[in-house]
Amino acid sequence: MTLKTGDQYVEEMKKMRPNVYKWGELIEDVTTHPATKHHIKTVKTWYDNAFDPDKEAIYTTTSFLSGEKAHRWNTLMHTADDVAGNERMKRDGFHMRGSCMGPVCAGWTILNALYGTTYECDEEFGTKYHERVQNFMKFAEENALAMSGALTDAKGDRTKKPQAQENDDFYLHVKETKDDGIVLSGYKWQICGVVGSQYVIVMPTTGMSEGDEKYAVAAAIPRDAEGLTVVETRRPSDERAEEEGWDGIDGGITQSYLIFDDVFVPNEHVFMNGEIKYAGKVVSYFCDIYRAAIGGCVAGQGDVMIGAAVGMARANGLSRKVFNDKLVQMAINNETTFGGGLGAIYAGRQHPSGAWYPNTILAHTNKVHVAYLPKDTKLTCIEISGGITETGCIPSYKDMMSPIYGEKLLEGMKGAPGVDPEDRVKMARLVEWLCVGSGIPGCTQGGGSPDTAKMVVGLSTKWDELVDYARALAKVENPLREEKKK
Ligand SMILES: Cc1cc2nc3c(=O)[nH]c(=O)nc-3n(C[C@H](O)[C@H](O)[C@H](O)COP(=O)(O)OP(=O)(O)OC[C@H]3O[C@@H](n4cnc5c(N)ncnc54)[C@H](O)[C@@H]3O)c2cc1C
Repeated sequence: MTLKTGDQYVEEMKKMRPNVYKWGELIEDVTTHPATKHHIKTVKTWYDNAFDPDKEAIYTTTSFLSGEKAHRWNTLMHTADDVAGNERMKRDGFHMRGSCMGPVCAGWTILNALYGTTYECDEEFGTKYHERVQNFMKFAEENALAMSGALTDAKGDRTKKPQAQENDDFYLHVKETKDDGIVLSGYKWQICGVVGSQYVIVMPTTGMSEGDEKYAVAAAIPRDAEGLTVVETRRPSDERAEEEGWDGIDGGITQSYLIFDDVFVPNEHVFMNGEIKYAGKVVSYFCDIYRAAIGGCVAGQGDVMIGAAVGMARANGLSRKVFNDKLVQMAINNETTFGGGLGAIYAGRQHPSGAWYPNTILAHTNKVHVAYLPKDTKLTCIEISGGITETGCIPSYKDMMSPIYGEKLLEGMKGAPGVDPEDRVKMARLVEWLCVGSGIPGCTQGGGSPDTAKMVVGLSTKWDELVDYARALAKVENPLREEKKK
């Protein structure tokens, strides 16, 4: 198939075994349920973009593995341009739907990270994982799969290693190894876009040490596999997405908690099983790609915030110029993360396997900006837009349609002459959704905490080399080194 239309994608989602729950109830059809349909619609748009002459160059590419035209998220990122294509696609996707897209992001990134990791692992240990990853990537491309990616384990006591937790399930682990595959048990928490995925790609959340072997596991699992339960959690303002009229924003993510209860994975879909040395490696390659490309996500959402802020100012009767300084700062924030991502990508390196990995220190630096700058952008957006956009300050669609008081409510919403009060309210709802609601793309913790990124920057910085630059300029003979503590 290689390229799939949005309608084909939706039909396939309908056929999946129902295993997604919300509010304690099973969702029979994720394509129509109010809590999940907006997300499915968003993923559908990404598939349809392959057939739009204005978008196809962004959303498709030529597959390095097959030479065929394929959805970008089903391909190996083999060059810097491929990874930059990832970042540009994300920025465009946010323009269209306002929020992030798990099923066309994290699973793909994990497969790319595994591509180099398994290559090295096979060389050292004589394992056969790399061919399996290649085969699975070809399978994903041929079937135009939507794939979420699950790293984050429940983790329990953060000071303890997986093996020292009071409950094995706090980290996903191999409960049993059989001749034809493995049995998985445990929890993966806060995973984006599982509801809209056909496969979930799992990998370790952190480096592992001796004794942690059973937790060092990577694999591909159908989203509806027997034994896998998905608990959908998006809230609180996602209830908006379940509301009527202009209260429902036509976009958005899903976030899920995954409970693996004896899930069988056949050998051909197992990409790591016990190789602790490579758990940290795959995390590192994952972060290099993810923390570079996420600059496009927050820039894309920031672009929409600028548009919404200008729209609100004009609906309030004010010109863009009144807020020029603030708006320019918002644009600078966007371009900082976008440019930071591109810088990391183009300063990257080709791995001997053929995968392209962005520059580590630049990718992690970008992640820190991605964690903080969008908050500034959001606050400024609300500042420009007014109190109507702070959460809880817009009457609901139903109230405005009330035969008793609706007309007067709406009348009082009027701002600039010539602007329909309904349009002012719609724009305000969008600002609320983007800045304090579920439109937030998870830029602080998504892709890992800023502290872990800062740690990598700290470890990658050659402090003594920097001291030597200063010493040479200052003509200081003393090496000014710290004595290593015994
Ligand atoms: C919107 C969103 C989307 C996400 N999507 C995905 C996804 O698609 N796939 C996925 O796998 N994950 C996803 N995540 C999860 C995300 O990767 C994690 O939230 C993130 O890695 C942090 O883990 P945690 O939430 O368990 O934080 P915690 O581990 O609870 O950390 C909390 C804070 O404590 C610090 N900390 C933790 N342990 C220590 C320690 N031992 N010493 C010192 N400080 C410590 C951390 O740096 C952090 O600042 C998503 C998260 C969000 C918010």
